[in-house]
Amino acid sequence: MKTSDYLLMPDRIWSEYDGAPGGTSLASTCGELFSQQLFNWQEFAVAHMSMKGAWFREITSGQHTMLVQFNQGRTVSATAALDAETIRNRPCFLCVYHLPAAQKAVLYRKTFLILVNPYPIFSPHYTVVHVNHEPQELERHLGALLALAHDLGPAFMVFYNGPRCGASAPDHHHFQVCPSGMLPIEKDWEEGEREILCADREDVSFGVLRLPGRNALFMEGSVPETLEAFLKRLIGAMGEVMGSAEEPMLNLFCKQKEGRWQLLVFPRRKHRPDAYYREGKGSVLVTPGAVEMGGLLITIREDDFLKMTPALAEEIYREVSLPPEVIEEIVNRMK
Ligand SMILES: [Zn+2]
Repeated sequence: MKTSDYLLMPDRIWSEYDGAPGGTSLASTCGELFSQQLFNWQEFAVAHMSMKGAWFREITSGQHTMLVQFNQGRTVSATAALDAETIRNRPCFLCVYHLPAAQKAVLYRKTFLILVNPYPIFSPHYTVVHVNHEPQELERHLGALLALAHDLGPAFMVFYNGPRCGASAPDHHHFQVCPSGMLPIEKDWEEGEREILCADREDVSFGVLRLPGRNALFMEGSVPETLEAFLKRLIGAMGEVMGSAEEPMLNLFCKQKEGRWQLLVFPRRKHRPDAYYREGKGSVLVTPGAVEMGGLLITIREDDFLKMTPALAEEIYREVSLPPEVIEEIVNRMK
């Protein structure tokens, strides 16, 4: 798809946000899109209603809380085959030509289409899709990530799943957006055991956040250019330590609060845990992406929903996350 192709489908663009001062805020524009889609797209309204009725359980490990959601609507996404051949042979569901007939978009700074997620985990839950069919890749879109978090404001968080650890369309670049205050990780992020390793160096604070079964790297800064340069350096350091020529496996959250961007990166070593592929009693159909790493475990079978324990969650996290000693090596390169 070429950049201009969405222009050939003007009926898809329900509204546009270009950042002009004095215009409607992005959060309001997206809220209006969400209402429009609930009223005019029946399948979405049904999926949203079904998600609103999803069961939740809270499980705790020490002072850390995790949530388990039973959401059968996520079955397609949680069990998607993501091998290169399957991806090559299926029509891309994020390309504007293949969107359901009733789906509309907010055109964001002429570069992204903001869509309601048709299989929501949150209310609202947006997918922010590049106008071009180009691969999922963080480094090229760091500026857009920071701009999006800024434009949406503190009521929302932007998140990203790497092409090999959670993205269900690794061939089409996209971010996702959820409301702030929905993920258990946010409390840990604010109040948890944070080890600040360098503060105010080039205006960036950087450190490690310790969580049950996994560690995350956090960054804060108020100057987008320096933060972007720091993130590029981090991605490079992760790639070197992890010995990966492709983008190092990671999930990421980004939000802006009181003029500062806050980012949280979960370095990964594996997409799905072994239990995903087991048969019988040992089987657990959980596919960890950013949401799961953020402490909200989505289960698509009642059995998995009921049997999830803090110990099982930690075991899954440990298996798919980069071990602490490797994270330390990355941190040492960033000092
Ligand atoms: Zn596409």
